[in-house]
Amino acid sequence: MSHVQQITVLGATGSIGLSTLDVIARHPERYAVFALSGFSRLAELEALCLKHRPRFAVVRDEQAAELLSGGLQSAGLSTEVLIGESGLCTVASHPQVDTVMAAIVGAAGLKPTLAAVEASKKVLLANKEALVMSGDLFMQAVKHSGAVLLPIDSEHNAIFQCLPNNYANGLESVGVRRILLTASGGPFRETPLEQLAHVTPEQACAHPNWSMGRKISVDSASMMNKGLELIEACWLFNTRPAKVEVVIHPQSVIHSLVDYVDGSVLAQMGNPDMRTPIAHALAWPERIDSGVPPLDLFAVARLDFQAPDEVRFPCLRLAREAADAGGTSPAMLNAANEVAVEAFLQRRIRFNEIPSIIEDVLSTQPGVAVEGLATVLEADRVARSLAEQWLTRRG
Ligand code: NAD
Ligand code: MG
Repeated sequence: MSHVQQITVLGATGSIGLSTLDVIARHPERYAVFALSGFSRLAELEALCLKHRPRFAVVRDEQAAELLSGGLQSAGLSTEVLIGESGLCTVASHPQVDTVMAAIVGAAGLKPTLAAVEASKKVLLANKEALVMSGDLFMQAVKHSGAVLLPIDSEHNAIFQCLPNNYANGLESVGVRRILLTASGGPFRETPLEQLAHVTPEQACAHPNWSMGRKISVDSASMMNKGLELIEACWLFNTRPAKVEVVIHPQSVIHSLVDYVDGSVLAQMGNPDMRTPIAHALAWPERIDSGVPPLDLFAVARLDFQAPDEVRFPCLRLAREAADAGGTSPAMLNAANEVAVEAFLQRRIRFNEIPSIIEDVLSTQPGVAVEGLATVLEADRVARSLAEQWLTRRG
């Protein structure tokens, strides 16, 4: 490798952002941090800037910018502090950047991630909501710009590793029968159904195998995460929802599988640690050390598989319906889910009301055809407003 890769980490203070910086710091001869962004944890962002000495940092508003600039200047750092969505788009598309880690959570990541794609960057996609919202537009932008899009979501990274290079023309053309998307089933896989109305945000965020941000932890508990991943897989691998089967695999050691027409089933395995897909995508097509310990198969001992239960997990059905409906339905599903998850985290609603809100929004306002980014953003706005109305009616 000739030059040190300049990397922007969007969402640097989050779970994926921190894991990315951990891998980057193991390979100073390969990677340098060009920009870091953070939304709320300013002290953490400052500490990350002191350690990684980026050229730019991006924060949410003027006040945060003043605080951060002051701290960095007194430490002798010349990091320039930018603000808000325009700042995020600037560091995502800057001519000196090679690679962008898109690790903002939720719809807030859409525009900066698209900016990186449109600027032909190597884009490491953790922010699945961006792709779920804008699917076809996003993939068209990848095609037109020549951006290199690599999946960070462990399942999609696993599928990518199990596919041949030339899958882009359709999975049938490379002999794939179906994709098997694994799911741990989350913390409530075996909780008696009547207790789901009483589970707390703390219980929902205590994932049995993965340590993640709060929003994706709740999504994992409701299995909306798997629903979003089903939609994500269809766009990334140019396939239909019917070709993607969800398999509950509680040990989270097989990260997904590809089933071929000759009966071969290829799986990617490893410890449940996001540094593996991050290192894979950072170095691709090479391999580098990620800091993840080797998989101890004797400690794993057994691998279990079950079919998902859509009565227990209605979010999975809702996501499949939105995927089949297409148009703006996935963007509306995502927006309604973001509002519902936030309301659950704030203890305004019960856990099992999350799917009720989403179902109400999607049945009140069905999706329409996507004509451009404006259609997607409008669908996002309408779905959020309908979800808020549901919350107001509930009281
Ligand atoms: P997190 O909550 O730990 O971090 C989110 C990051 O986004 C933080 O840096 C935060 O400051 C920033 N952010 C939040 N709201 C923002 C806003 N409105 N504007 C700008 N920045 C904002 O989340 P995470 O677990 O790191 O997940 C990040 C993304 O990666 C999500 O889309 C998630 O679905 C995906 N993902 C995460 C994991 C995981 O193991 N954590 C695995 C697969 C995919
Ligand atoms: Mg995943």
